[in-house]
Amino acid sequence: MFTQFKLDPILLESVKRQGYTSPTPVQSAGMPPALEGRDLVATAETGSGKTAAFLLPIMQRLLAEPRGRTQALILCPTREIALQTNEEAAKLGRGTGLRSVAVYGGVGFEPQTKALRTGAEIVVATPGRLLDHMGRGNVNFRNLRVLILDEADRMLDMGFIPDIRRILGSLPQNRQTMLFSATMPPEILSLSNHFMKSPARVAIGRPSTPPKTIQQAVYAAEPQEKTSLLLGLIRSEDMDSVLIFTRTKHRADRLANQLTRAGIRAACIHGDRSQHQREEALDGFRRGRYRILVATDIAARGLDIQGVTHVINYDLPPIPEDYIHRIGRTARAGASGQALSLVTREDAEALRDIEMTLGRELPLSELRKRTIAPEQPIAELRRRTRAPEPDYSNARIQVQ
Ligand code: AMP
Repeated sequence: MFTQFKLDPILLESVKRQGYTSPTPVQSAGMPPALEGRDLVATAETGSGKTAAFLLPIMQRLLAEPRGRTQALILCPTREIALQTNEEAAKLGRGTGLRSVAVYGGVGFEPQTKALRTGAEIVVATPGRLLDHMGRGNVNFRNLRVLILDEADRMLDMGFIPDIRRILGSLPQNRQTMLFSATMPPEILSLSNHFMKSPARVAIGRPSTPPKTIQQAVYAAEPQEKTSLLLGLIRSEDMDSVLIFTRTKHRADRLANQLTRAGIRAACIHGDRSQHQREEALDGFRRGRYRILVATDIAARGLDIQGVTHVINYDLPPIPEDYIHRIGRTARAGASGQALSLVTREDAEALRDIEMTLGRELPLSELRKRTIAPEQPIAELRRRTRAPEPDYSNARIQVQ
């Protein structure tokens, strides 16, 4: 229960409005020290509920503070995460009078400058654009109380550590600092040792197994039949909101075009699309304007996309852990979902690696039996993966 935390009734009401009935593990473990004002290092990734785990304590703390001064800074790796965090801040902060602004590159300075100059209490920023604003004298951190480093390992990967050190150098020393990261590479640990005062440590295990509520299945296909198999699946199944992963940007574009031509409302996101295009695609998908979002791993990382009923691996991911990340997009926070993978013979090794990471075999769909001559390719696939022959006596998609 959220009432276990000493939160203002306005915030408890927001939590209720969001439909959060009980705290997630990172919230249960992280919020008490955060509410006490302690520094915190938390190992937790997107999907764990970490955003609310830091936003609620920030808001609780700022409720009593004077308005019109920037008092909390949340640094994050990408524009999408900045926007998402800002949206969550707007929802959780409703009725508090606290303002939050997202500060990120690729768009004009003016609206951000205005919000910063009028002292938005919460600033959610990517490091590069924030430094630009700091260089222009647009932001005043003299009253800063709380600093969050969100997705610190990704900020490291993206080369932001020097920027972060520069930003840290101009913030007041007397503040609360909280760091959230999916993994804890040595560079992040040394950063945290350097800038934090005896932080509380919270580790929420990285999921080596996906949630039990996700049904998984593998569909064997020849490379050239993947799209028609996918179209058949989309048409035959009750698929409301489908996230499809491809291996490359080019394949994402091509597939989204093929789906659109087939009369299916589809959009795509990847690194070569403009900020505007990505936002339009994401917003359209969230609102149901698009039924399908085609994405590459990098573009989708860290994005919180709610209510996904199906994740489809049009191409298997080259890194086995990415399989778990991808399919974790469905069945968020207790809901159920399905994860389907289209697998060609060339994928035999990648499939075996994924199955070894999962610690078990994925069920092959019976659809193969109906659409393509079954014995030879599947037997071959299985031989090459050195897994036993599947049992077709069960339903088409087996519940894990
Ligand atoms: P995050 O890890 O912050 O990206 O959050 C993942 C998703 O979980 C978001 O859609 C949140 O709205 C949702 N969420 C956060 N806390 C809870 C909770 N206690 N109960 C249910 N859903 C939650």
